[in-house]
Amino acid sequence: MSAAYKIIDHTYDAVIVGAGGSGLRATMGCAEAGLKTACITKVFPTRSHTVAAQGGIAASLGNNSPDHWTWHMFDTVKGSDWLGDQDAIEYMVREAPAAVIELEHAGVPFSRNDNGTIYQRPFGGHMQNMGEGPPVQRTCAAADRTGHAMLHALYQQSLKYDADFYVEYFALDLIMEDGKCRGVIAMCMEDGSIHRFRSHAVVLATGGGGRVYQSATSAHTCTGDGNGMALRAGIALQDMEFVQFHPTGIYGAGVLITEGARGEGGYLTNSEGERFMERYAPSAKDLASRDVVARSMAMEIREGRGVGKENDHIFLHLDHIDPKVLAERLPGITETGKIFANVDLTRQPLPVVPTVHYNMGGVPTNYHGEVVINKDGNPDTVVPGLFAVGEAACVSVHGANRLGSNSLIDLVVFGRATGLRLKETLKPGTPHNPLPKGSEDYALGRLDHFRNAKGGSPTAEIRKDMQRTMQRHCAVFRDSALLAEGVKHMDEVYKRMTDIDVTDRSLIWNTDLIETLELDNLISQAVVTMRSADNRKESRGAHMHEDFPDRDDATWMKHTVTSFEGWGGQGGAVAIDYRPVHDYTLTDEIEYIKPKKRVY
Ligand SMILES: Cc1cc2nc3c(=O)[nH]c(=O)nc-3n(C[C@H](O)[C@H](O)[C@H](O)COP(=O)(O)OP(=O)(O)OC[C@H]3O[C@@H](n4cnc5c(N)ncnc54)[C@H](O)[C@@H]3O)c2cc1C
Repeated sequence: MSAAYKIIDHTYDAVIVGAGGSGLRATMGCAEAGLKTACITKVFPTRSHTVAAQGGIAASLGNNSPDHWTWHMFDTVKGSDWLGDQDAIEYMVREAPAAVIELEHAGVPFSRNDNGTIYQRPFGGHMQNMGEGPPVQRTCAAADRTGHAMLHALYQQSLKYDADFYVEYFALDLIMEDGKCRGVIAMCMEDGSIHRFRSHAVVLATGGGGRVYQSATSAHTCTGDGNGMALRAGIALQDMEFVQFHPTGIYGAGVLITEGARGEGGYLTNSEGERFMERYAPSAKDLASRDVVARSMAMEIREGRGVGKENDHIFLHLDHIDPKVLAERLPGITETGKIFANVDLTRQPLPVVPTVHYNMGGVPTNYHGEVVINKDGNPDTVVPGLFAVGEAACVSVHGANRLGSNSLIDLVVFGRATGLRLKETLKPGTPHNPLPKGSEDYALGRLDHFRNAKGGSPTAEIRKDMQRTMQRHCAVFRDSALLAEGVKHMDEVYKRMTDIDVTDRSLIWNTDLIETLELDNLISQAVVTMRSADNRKESRGAHMHEDFPDRDDATWMKHTVTSFEGWGGQGGAVAIDYRPVHDYTLTDEIEYIKPKKRVY
């Protein structure tokens, strides 16, 4: 069958799949180390979802209030509800200030204080004095377009290096041999040619899979393709039950209003005009962790105190803030509010509702970006040749709940770490063994199957079915009955993939085919998410299980790793295993932060 497709071969030291913040930073690092480097991306680099990040990037620079990396570490561990790996968290928060300065030097136009230093704003869950408070100003911002500024600066910088960009190439599958990653197969979307990349290292930087759900703040391109590829390569995904709902997506449209809005003094009210967060989080109030705020909002709505005709959303007030401050610090969301909610937020409140925003789970890695699996009793067994960074990965620094502005810093810190690891372990120009015979068969078999699929269910219909099921059965509040039904229904939706219908058979810009391949990636993640959620009989971070409302450290302080067998509606078997949470730090400059009750 491969005879039907034109195959073009490439050989590299390192191939990065993805050109968002994490992929570009890893690409720069590899190229800088003298490695022959390629970056493959399905969208033009500056269209990656990182471009949409608004609020900012966390680092304990201490420009606007006292701060220290140990405080950032404490907040991140607490935010993670003690599911984060403390060695990785220490690495991230210690590297963070230098990473932000590096971005400043790369040309990111950060907002400034009067004395010329980078402006930092408060964000949810970030506090002074090892959680004691008051809130710290830790989030470095370029107005409310931080991701835009960052991604453009990183792309400009990456052009300085000698890396090859394959733009609008869709990665299909990894090439694996005896548990080792040998490369990746991609399709050029413009002409349908197949490209086989032989490489000593493949870095998955493919972002999150927010589109598993009906309403998400993430772009339509956020389909977690790398996670789908990893599952097909037999790699279990970690902590997929932890899906972050951002408190403030615009009601109906799902478009994000940054937490920076509350950082700048915004607050939430219910139908009685009450600032209800004072009841749920007396000290941090509207700046509690995201899971806490999203749950409180859902609770208000559930108890009949939502606003609007259907009492099904909440108001976010910015109308008390000086319009000059809004124009300077939050110009983007001022515009977004007008376009998507028809609200002049200098005068009216914005209608908002918790909306899917971020995947804490992903491909498990260590803090060098190396993918790890459970093998022969060693939970930290490295998969040779395979790396993951950014939202696609689970390092795990975010554990059960990510703090706002901790993703952008994760991207650049671990993107850089991956480059450093490869510099250390891979000599430029190291000779390659030949690829195994038929290394393209698996990827092309799957591609060909979908291209010729003639069933009764259009891709969009199955996708809607999946998204509704996830939204209904695996959202902010979960319970045993809801999840059991969800598992059953999700398995049925998965089976529907055998009946999928693709109408376009061409290889030239076949968006029908690409969306189908994306759906196949999404749907395995949906099944894994639902099963992992059903399996975890406790409440922790973003996973609120109403039949088990407490955190149960004795049984459940461990990472879930869930594998999935099959694609296209075939197979569908799920296996759940665990990895221990790293209960040690990187250095002896800070002690392991012991679990305690999480109150804000
Ligand atoms: C609206 C919004 C606002 C946010 N604001 C903030 C914020 O203020 N602060 C913060 O810390 N975090 C924020 N986040 C989270 C953060 O922006 C993301 O987690 C992060 O940008 C993800 O970056 P990434 O490099 O992992 O992937 P992405 O930026 O999502 O990029 C993924 C890349 O992978 C490529 N790709 C994917 N699949 C394939 C394939 N099959 N073949 C080839 N290429 C592929 C894409 O082309 C793209 O280049 C926000 C998220 C959203 C949605």
